[in-house]
Amino acid sequence: MPADDRDKNAAPPLPEPLRVPVADSHTHLDMQSGTVEEALAKAASVGVTTVVQVGCDLKGSRWAADTAAAYDSVHATVALHPNEAPRIVLGDPDGWSRQGAREPGGDAALDEALAEIDRLAALPQVKGVGETGLDHFRTGEEGKEAQERSFRAHIEIAKRHGKTLVIHDRDAHADVLRVLKEEGAPERTVFHCYSGDAEMAQICARAGYYMSFAGNVTFKNAQNLRDALAVAPLELVLVETDAPFLTPVPYRGRPNAPYLVPVTVRAMAAVRGIDEDALATALGANTARAFGY
Ligand SMILES: [Zn+2]
Ligand SMILES: [Zn+2]
Repeated sequence: MPADDRDKNAAPPLPEPLRVPVADSHTHLDMQSGTVEEALAKAASVGVTTVVQVGCDLKGSRWAADTAAAYDSVHATVALHPNEAPRIVLGDPDGWSRQGAREPGGDAALDEALAEIDRLAALPQVKGVGETGLDHFRTGEEGKEAQERSFRAHIEIAKRHGKTLVIHDRDAHADVLRVLKEEGAPERTVFHCYSGDAEMAQICARAGYYMSFAGNVTFKNAQNLRDALAVAPLELVLVETDAPFLTPVPYRGRPNAPYLVPVTVRAMAAVRGIDEDALATALGANTARAFGY
């Protein structure tokens, strides 16, 4: 029995390579073990030739921009995560965020951080603004106002720079759709780790929003995601890892990385009832169109 089948923390084995290359439309290389070179080489060896590196705070957004500048196969997005914005305003006494304990900074601190995101969003290797949006799961009532203000500001930044908006929507479907409608969505908008049902997929389809499916589409209890995937227009479907999170079945619970995209692509092809190569062709083209690279 190989070591990776015994150890629940070990990296899953390399899947069979895809014959048609695709992109991981949403990953966090800065939260994964190993070097960037290793992650990119491993991914490319199975046909995942492009990754979108997503920033969640100022430090991570600067890192994403620097990494995309250094590697042709990496594109960056920059943002304050929906759970990061309230921490900047209200403080983070427990210090569970990656930047440690923080004093409340108020609205001025959020404005200052948004100004830095605005500056980074102008860079050519930065293709998107996100992940931004709303998270009613992790942020409580007290953080809602800061979260929504930050979301609206990110939409404005994306539109002004002509960049793609990357949405994080956790337990907040109706409010995310409402804010997008009120502000007017940018030309290209991606729902990362799409978590709505088939009915919401129809709404996204009518609005022209991309829906990016992560490893949780393979989870046993995620029939609603498979139903959504089944009705989403093929030209609006993307694939992502959101690594190190959401590792697809049969490796659920172990560390995720871009090289595991083929596992999710194969599960998605089965849901759509189409050939793996045909799906990969669409995913590759869709991601390039969605992020304008
Ligand atoms: Zn997210
Ligand atoms: Zn993410």
